[in-house]
Amino acid sequence: MKSLIRFRGGVKLPGFKSLSTKSPIQKTPLPSRLILPLRQHIGESANPVVEIGDYVYKGQIIADSNSFVSAPIHASSSGKIINIGPYTIPHQSGIAETCIVIETDGKDQWHPNIKQCDVPGSLSADQIRKKIKQAGIVGLGGAVFPSSAKLKPTREIDTLIINGVECEPYITCDDALMRTKADEIIHGILLLRRVLNPIECVIAIENNKPEAIKAVRSTLARFKEENIGSVNTIRVVPVPTIFPAGGEKQLIKQICNKEVPQHGLPYEVGVVCLNVGTTAAIYDCIYQGRPLVSRLVTITGEAVNHPANYQVLIGTPVEDVLAAAGGVQASKVDFIMGGPMMGQVLPDTGVPVVKATNCLLVKTPEKSKKQPVQLPCIRCGACANACPMQLLPQQLYWHARGKHFEKLNHYNLTDCIECGCCSVVCPSKIPLVHYFRFAKTEMREHEVKSKFADQSRLRMLARDARLERIKKEQEERKARRKAEREKKKAANQKQKQISESPKASSG
Ligand code: SF4
Ligand code: SF4
Repeated sequence: MKSLIRFRGGVKLPGFKSLSTKSPIQKTPLPSRLILPLRQHIGESANPVVEIGDYVYKGQIIADSNSFVSAPIHASSSGKIINIGPYTIPHQSGIAETCIVIETDGKDQWHPNIKQCDVPGSLSADQIRKKIKQAGIVGLGGAVFPSSAKLKPTREIDTLIINGVECEPYITCDDALMRTKADEIIHGILLLRRVLNPIECVIAIENNKPEAIKAVRSTLARFKEENIGSVNTIRVVPVPTIFPAGGEKQLIKQICNKEVPQHGLPYEVGVVCLNVGTTAAIYDCIYQGRPLVSRLVTITGEAVNHPANYQVLIGTPVEDVLAAAGGVQASKVDFIMGGPMMGQVLPDTGVPVVKATNCLLVKTPEKSKKQPVQLPCIRCGACANACPMQLLPQQLYWHARGKHFEKLNHYNLTDCIECGCCSVVCPSKIPLVHYFRFAKTEMREHEVKSKFADQSRLRMLARDARLERIKKEQEERKARRKAEREKKKAANQKQKQISESPKASSG
């Protein structure tokens, strides 16, 4: 058995995991309306295939796309389409994007075509891929990359990694899933193995989840005993509890000792990495015929009355989910989608749960806490040692403050995964990651502005060239007309001379 390789950087953080793991998984009630954004994944947005007033069944496609990197959106429950228009999405900018809104009819009725598959074992790799694409399955660990696009690598795959690390504090939905649905996860892995044909498969689980490790290992042993698929090449690997051990690049380094190239994808080093939740969703899609219409969400934080993991219909407004969790105790709180390190503060609780929502964390706002005094950088290098992407945060900080965009590119700001490890270890209490988030936004704006300026310059040059050409053509026309006039005049004069000559008179 290969030993684990320690990735560079990372920090140890308090977990706060037991807050949400004490209670069993619960289900949130059917909301009166569902808000479904057309873009809940990386890649091209889906386009509506329904109209206002249409009746839709649960699981029916309501927005679709032909693009390779995209995913369709399905109705999470039955009801009537009451609007297609801009709604605030769960992003801290408070931006609005096109959503389809369903008024639910309380029946929660599946589409009649959605049936269990009697012969999942006889499906070809292409048929499995196609079903996964149609089911709208995306990476449920938060990356939301369309899974079907990951399952068509252009080179052979050595290792399939199933990511059950879940290293960010407070989040426990993957832990809860592994404890309760290990069967579905293993069935999902067997399907993925038929598609990718890897040499081995590793289920990586952080070593602070002993119950999940035990549940998955005992399920594997049962599969082996009962001869349910060949599980000999599937192994469970506990990984050390260190943040961000579950980052795709960090996990590949630990398990395979391979470096994914800058701006590259894992398949380029012969690895495909999928989250445990995604694997269970693949089981649901192939065995039960069900598209991705709900997901497990950790509702947690000291201010939530009943923190636990909840099965939530995608599109359910956050306020309905929080009400199902017994409401919130304090009035001054931040609602964060994701964890405390990489999550986003929500603009309000009217926004819906989307495919990326693994956690809703309710916390006392950072700004209302007493902020530590920020001191000057002492160049201690602690931030560089903690950076899992091997960046130089102190240099990035310097250039982010000075808005030196070229230098920020030179120091690879775009590689920053915004994990916040550098901020955690900085003895001067500099909120480095905030500077990097802000600098990234500014860089994007700067790029858009310079692109716009370039386009304006090109348009101006084209306009000048057009005016010059018109002027030249006008002058040429004028010169041609003048030459014609002179030619005509000369011809007339010649004619006149001929007619007035003595020879012509005598003739
Ligand atoms: S950890 Fe803080 S003080 Fe130390 S080099 Fe980095 S930014 Fe400067
Ligand atoms: S936030 Fe960015 S710079 Fe800081 S440790 Fe994480 S990846 Fe490195």
